[in-house]
Amino acid sequence: MRPNPNTCSKLGIAILVAALLSGVASAAIAASETKSKPDAESVLISKAKGIHKRVLTLDTHNDIDINNFGFSRNYSQDLDNQVTLPKMIAGGLDASFFIVYTGQSTEPDAFEAAGYKRAYDSAINMFESIQRMTTVLAPTQIEFARTAEEVRRIHAKGKKVALIGVENAYPLGDEKNALKRVKQFYERGARYMSLAHQGHSQFSDSNTGEQIGWKWNGLSPLGKQVVLEMNRVGIMVDVSHPSKESMMQTLQITKAPIIASHSAVRSLADVSRNMDDEQLLALKANGGVIQVVGFNSYLKTDSKERRAALKALREETKLPTEISLAALKRGPVGGISEEQREQIIKRVEQLDAAFPPPSRASVKDLVDHIDYAVKKIGLDHVGISSDFDGGGGIDGWNHAGETFNVTLELVRRGYTEAQIAQLWSGNLLRVMSEVEKVAQSMQAKK
Ligand SMILES: [Zn+2]
Repeated sequence: MRPNPNTCSKLGIAILVAALLSGVASAAIAASETKSKPDAESVLISKAKGIHKRVLTLDTHNDIDINNFGFSRNYSQDLDNQVTLPKMIAGGLDASFFIVYTGQSTEPDAFEAAGYKRAYDSAINMFESIQRMTTVLAPTQIEFARTAEEVRRIHAKGKKVALIGVENAYPLGDEKNALKRVKQFYERGARYMSLAHQGHSQFSDSNTGEQIGWKWNGLSPLGKQVVLEMNRVGIMVDVSHPSKESMMQTLQITKAPIIASHSAVRSLADVSRNMDDEQLLALKANGGVIQVVGFNSYLKTDSKERRAALKALREETKLPTEISLAALKRGPVGGISEEQREQIIKRVEQLDAAFPPPSRASVKDLVDHIDYAVKKIGLDHVGISSDFDGGGGIDGWNHAGETFNVTLELVRRGYTEAQIAQLWSGNLLRVMSEVEKVAQSMQAKK
């Protein structure tokens, strides 16, 4: 005999309701006995939760792993990556620029047809993979946006928003291909692009020139043409990795506002990836925006002594500046034998003991950088980024699932809901809209 499932479940529900009611009653009595009103901290948290839910949160820099776009393994699953759809949902992160990244090749044929082809093929694969996420793998959860207005429309429907940023224009190739490929990249969805990464490209010097010397003293002649072509087609110019001089020359020729998609403030952390006060003020004059990045070593830097010791160690072991110590510890890197790698790691451990690295940066440090930039150039020119899955992550914002903690700290510092909405997306979307308008007017003149 089988019991009637209906009767069983009804009885079960009745018992459950009775238990819940008595639980609610006793909890209410306990609350009224112990405290009469919620404390300031819980009021602040619930206020921040409301704001976090209402504002559109957009992170301008999240890298992708090309292996996460298959049917059996993809970003709709709870992978270990810092950004996945489940983490975006859990953390209330609404929109993300996913990155078509190309490391700057230093192979002998890097600036010849074969080197450019390798870079181009890899970039196209990344464009197609990101599109595949929104069209094949998770179309009900995330949608691709091509304009600032589309970002808002998709978000209003309750879906996550995907955009594309290109980190390093190197795959555009040489003067035969570069300009026409700017348009092609736009059509594939690119809405911002940096002209270099770590290492000089055919278009621009990189910030790494501060250690290794310059190739162009700013932008190359072709790089200047690419900036104008990006203005014309409607791609935001990203100056996070190029050198300071490259940024200053870009500002002289661009007809639209520019962005720094993932940088921090150099006055607070003196590294070449960050923006000094002169750069920040120039960005303000241009109407652009700096997306302050939650990246440990850009928020907090080494002591002078530690920096000197690391520099000496790099020189002695001939470890190029392009190879970070983190990358070295992670696994094999190009041009360095396994034996050398182990020796260098041992030396780094000795150095760490003598000159300890600073404690890990936290959400408080991130918001210190945001506060500094807001005071220096005004709230309209500041935004937020993580560089997740590309080296980003700090205490309290280790992955997209912890995004609320950033809003909480902003509320703690006294930012209003309208200001937080600007920091989280309003300013970046304003620049994106202006870039769209400049492109329209440039195209109308032809
Ligand atoms: Zn980067």
